[in-house]
Amino acid sequence: MTNYVFITGGVTSSLGKGLATAALGSLLQARGFKVRLRKLDPYLNVDPGTMSPYQHGEVYVTDDGTEADLDLGHYERFTNVSERSSDYTTSGKIYSSVIAKERRGDYLGGTVQVIPHITDEIKRFITNDIGDADFILCEIGGTVGDIEGLPLLEAIRQLRNDLGRENTLFVHLSLIPYVAAAGELKTKPTQHSVKTLLSFGIQPDILLCRSDRPISDEEKRKLSLFCNVKNECVISALDVDTIYQVPISYHEQGFDQQVCLHFGKTEGKFDQLLKTLHLKPGTTKPDLSQWKDIVTAIRNPKDSVKIAIVGKYVQLLDAYKSLTQALVHGGIENRIQPDFIWIDAETPADDLLAALSNADAILVPGGFGERGVSGKLLAIQYAREHKVPYLGICFGMQLAVIESCRNVLGIKEASSTEFGPTEEPVVSLLTEWVDGEIYQQRSEESDLGGTMRLGTYPCLLQPHSLVQQIYNGADLINERHRHRYEVNPAYKERLEATGLQFSGFSPDGKLPEIVERSDHPWFVGVQFHPELKSKPFAPHPLFASFVNAALNHQKAQND
Ligand code: GLN
Repeated sequence: MTNYVFITGGVTSSLGKGLATAALGSLLQARGFKVRLRKLDPYLNVDPGTMSPYQHGEVYVTDDGTEADLDLGHYERFTNVSERSSDYTTSGKIYSSVIAKERRGDYLGGTVQVIPHITDEIKRFITNDIGDADFILCEIGGTVGDIEGLPLLEAIRQLRNDLGRENTLFVHLSLIPYVAAAGELKTKPTQHSVKTLLSFGIQPDILLCRSDRPISDEEKRKLSLFCNVKNECVISALDVDTIYQVPISYHEQGFDQQVCLHFGKTEGKFDQLLKTLHLKPGTTKPDLSQWKDIVTAIRNPKDSVKIAIVGKYVQLLDAYKSLTQALVHGGIENRIQPDFIWIDAETPADDLLAALSNADAILVPGGFGERGVSGKLLAIQYAREHKVPYLGICFGMQLAVIESCRNVLGIKEASSTEFGPTEEPVVSLLTEWVDGEIYQQRSEESDLGGTMRLGTYPCLLQPHSLVQQIYNGADLINERHRHRYEVNPAYKERLEATGLQFSGFSPDGKLPEIVERSDHPWFVGVQFHPELKSKPFAPHPLFASFVNAALNHQKAQND
């Protein structure tokens, strides 16, 4: 029987429900269990694909091309389990499928209602495609009490009834704020949050209490008493210096032990069972050595480098969640601490160049629209001319090609059709391509979700190129995409003659996927998003190599 853990959040948003879910997933995995992690977001957008990064942070893309909340990035980084479309939904998607069924007449003339039709649809989503998972960890987005989240809470309340207490567990993540004037941690907001949950019929089994200082036994007793949760199930979730410490800290606080106890998967019992099956006992004790090694590497760097990130959304760093994590991973591999210089692409040219002069490497990440493009082009030109390591991701690759066209080839009109009609469409809308066996066709009129190249695509690497070396000699790689426009191969010959090599192509030879400069120590542009696949325990080779190139540049400058 699959066990379900539901994670809700109270008091405020941004408490780290996604991280808590991901960390619990990794702890259960470390005990030998198979997990799937999924999220339901309460908002009415069908997916976050059309939302501004300022509203929602980064849009995470899975292998199968699902545009999802950034928490799915945490799930993958902590568990290495590939997320898929059956792991992410929104109220918008749930409602649209119910309404589509109603239009088709599936409800046979019945009145369509939130209960049972919407809640049934939610329950179907939660219990669908579970495969051989021992645990389904299911995060409910938003904060308890939000109006649009009510059907989600009602559905998980029903699921406890349907599946039984022994197969379901409610974890509530809440904030215990420190009030300086009183010199105390306050439990009242959490008491109220639990009361709200109770009013929907949900009694949490475990309280995860976020705080910036240790919670005393007395405060724990209070929370236990007022929230009707066992004392040992009041788990302290203290702020930590790196997110990869979270599984270790949770384990020290007994979180995974309590989860296992609830489901009867106690250490003793399970070990005995394993012995009777002549299997090695001890698998129920989590092996956390991987996390300890990662944390040690992060806390003890040998060097540090400054990486300038020139983007449009630098005011909200959630917009670059996977990117900063991938750079941290690249640092883990090299024992280098990456420090970030965030540069708003709309910074006036002189200030922008001054900021870049402190950088050991420059990165232009993905982005959309013309605003900020001139600043990004200037940063790319600076990296090219001053031989500063450059990594261009998606938009950052497209703009690197445009920059070389304009400033090296002298094609002043070189542009992307994303910015309007142009005589020199160096980057243009892709209207047809082959996705596996399926021929895909789009036009300017397709809806916004429809024109994107999304998910994993293969890419052939040019023999003897820098990228092939970086990918350890691989001929074929698979990376994730999220973009509407493509580099136009019609400019390839001319660009290659001036040093910009096209070193990665789609297997049909139609879509340029990677460019690199042969006259530069480290200048790479990739059409895909390598940051989406990087893991702390398996840093992505492009980021590991880029961070290392930054250190080499720094050393060369100091010599
Ligand atoms: N705006 C560009 C496109 O749609 C790049 C997108 C991105 O960087 N993700 O093709």
